[in-house]
Amino acid sequence: MIEFDKTRISLKPSQNWNEWIKNAFQFGRCECIRCRESDYDESAYRYKHTFEIDGEILSRRFATTPKEDFESNLKKAWISFYRLDNSKEEIFIKHFYDTSHSLLEIYEFTLPELKNKLVALIPEIRSVELSGNLVEISRN
Ligand SMILES: [Zn+2]
Repeated sequence: MIEFDKTRISLKPSQNWNEWIKNAFQFGRCECIRCRESDYDESAYRYKHTFEIDGEILSRRFATTPKEDFESNLKKAWISFYRLDNSKEEIFIKHFYDTSHSLLEIYEFTLPELKNKLVALIPEIRSVELSGNLVEISRN
């Protein structure tokens, strides 16, 4: 892997990306109607509402974590951090859905304290899979 300038993590798109991950969760278990009515039993859920990350009980903010927000924040941070020029940006966008994205390359512009949150969130996003260190994003 090429050595990248770590200070680029301070650029706005990476800041927004990290802010987005940080805000993806709120403190405490999920108290939505569905969770309360199921007595907090999530076994029938497709997507988790409550998480334990770094010893803390957190719940996902679904309103700000749809696939579309994940994609747009990731694309902007990646393009900015890796300083993709126009032609490389075009290729990146064109192959966004049929390429595996390296989690390690995403980590480069992710703050260390947010990595566990990111890893918990990725498989919970519709049409996004995490297998090993590869992030696969399907178009739909
Ligand atoms: Zn809930």
